[in-house]
Amino acid sequence: MQAARSSSSGTAFLADAMLGSVARKLRIFGFDTLYTAHIPDSEILKIGAELDRIVLTCDRELFKRVVKAGIRGVLLNGSGDYEDLLHIFSKCGIASVNFDAVKSRCSACNGSLIEKKPFEVKDRVPDNVAMQYKEFFECTKCSKVYWEGGHLKRIRALARKIDAGLKYKTPEEDKEKNEREMDKEKEREGEKKRGRKATMGKGALAA
Ligand SMILES: [Zn+2]
Repeated sequence: MQAARSSSSGTAFLADAMLGSVARKLRIFGFDTLYTAHIPDSEILKIGAELDRIVLTCDRELFKRVVKAGIRGVLLNGSGDYEDLLHIFSKCGIASVNFDAVKSRCSACNGSLIEKKPFEVKDRVPDNVAMQYKEFFECTKCSKVYWEGGHLKRIRALARKIDAGLKYKTPEEDKEKNEREMDKEKEREGEKKRGRKATMGKGALAA
């Protein structure tokens, strides 16, 4: 697997297999984001540590290993792109997000984009697109061509919604919430252990 070095912006991510949609959005917003479908957790930990990438995962067990290894990570609940992205930005101290086509990355492969003139891409886009749009971008890695299509309205709307959400979510509040979550997690762990013992006890009785 090819792993690009972190971008100069300093915040680079590594999203696990469950988070394809979140990874694509992060790339569109310009964040260097590796997406790791079909690789073992040990490899995720290795890349996270070596490339200083923030590991994004919905997997509680993997998150525990990330924390234990001293790697930066964010545990998500996978409830939706908006909630997950808001949580990521808030945890990572990113106060604002916006869409800028020049800084955007290829949603398919994480490559950087370069501007292209309509005549340079006209053979690779539908005729009506070539006639309608003036600005095109090409991925420097996989050569996919992008233009200001209708989906960007949704991306810009998502950016505005996240920005508004971030204003009401200070890092301090989040820190407290995280501590509460950790406490709850400890409680749950305790309950699970007690539950297992009880089940084992029952099984033993039945036998
Ligand atoms: Zn690409």
